[in-house]
Amino acid sequence: MLKLRFLAGALVLLTGCSSARRGATPNYSEQPPIAAAPQIETEHITELPALAPPPQTLPEAAHAPVGHAMNAWIPFNRWTEEHKAGPVQRISGGTVPAFALKAGNGLLIFRAYTQVAYWNSMEFYLGFAPEMVNGQPVLHSLDLAKNIEPLLHPLVLPAKTNRVIVIDPGHGGSNLGTRSVLDGSHEKEFTLDWAKRLAPLLETNGWKVFLTRTSDVDLSLTNRVNFADACKADLFVSLHFNAAPSPTDHDEAGIETFCVTPTGMPSTLTRDYEDDATLVFPNNRFDAENLQYAVQVQRSLLKISGAKDHGVRRARFMTVLRGQNCPAILVEGGYLSNPREARRVAEPAYRQKLAEAVAKALIERAEPKEESAKSENGK
Ligand SMILES: [Zn+2]
Repeated sequence: MLKLRFLAGALVLLTGCSSARRGATPNYSEQPPIAAAPQIETEHITELPALAPPPQTLPEAAHAPVGHAMNAWIPFNRWTEEHKAGPVQRISGGTVPAFALKAGNGLLIFRAYTQVAYWNSMEFYLGFAPEMVNGQPVLHSLDLAKNIEPLLHPLVLPAKTNRVIVIDPGHGGSNLGTRSVLDGSHEKEFTLDWAKRLAPLLETNGWKVFLTRTSDVDLSLTNRVNFADACKADLFVSLHFNAAPSPTDHDEAGIETFCVTPTGMPSTLTRDYEDDATLVFPNNRFDAENLQYAVQVQRSLLKISGAKDHGVRRARFMTVLRGQNCPAILVEGGYLSNPREARRVAEPAYRQKLAEAVAKALIERAEPKEESAKSENGK
């Protein structure tokens, strides 16, 4: 019974991409059970079956050839000179000196021997703690290529015509997700509501929006990836809420955004999964865009919600991200194990704020002048 319901749900959702109707009502929530008008905008599933076959026949990941991963320590001053990224300033001395790089689009701050670094005051994790050689900071080549360089370039959104986003409300059906410490409400309800609030905001701003689920159904992680493939997504955003690992911990709070760990780098979250750094996932083709989207969405969420910054993080075990053939991020919008945060998430007005924050990050950037005026008003 459960399985049948699940399959029917998956078919409804997957055929949603083939219909891709545009009209007065948002297409994300108005999917017909069967593609009603295949002659309209069928390009989204050209030569793809409605339900893609399970990918067990194809390796989800390959191992990088020996020597693939760059593995060198590079003097940061030399690198910034070569990349015309401006001078590096030592901003504090002592045994753990800190350094700043003021780039065209942001300020980078990092400390020697410390993995946590800051981009525009927002936390992110270097793969390797910077070292000091002859009084100068040296960074790992992978951090320079996969973290620093993407940050120095502004995110370029896909063209406004026909850009496709798949929003993935985490969990669903018998897959409840975590529970609110207040009243036992399920994560799956909040993620679906968040997604439904986000969809129209993006639809009116140049995105064609698809939801992996529009009702209380479960969908396997692999099918969520297949769904994005069938939609020919330009971006995949999975929405979740968090819980502290220990059931007695009610203090942990904040918002964090994940993307796949680049090959060669250690993850910031492993959750007891093996973290094999030699793996190359389909989604690793988008390492730079993943980070740029993650940073932009995380920044917008923090600004609008005022929540604690839990950082932009990397993980390798997230099936819903690593198989994606487009840039992909996963947002944890707060801790339902924290009473204060759970209370906020339970408020529809706060979930609307979270939706507005994600939308704002994914629509055309405001002119710098306008943005600073808005942020001042916002405070
Ligand atoms: Zn979740």
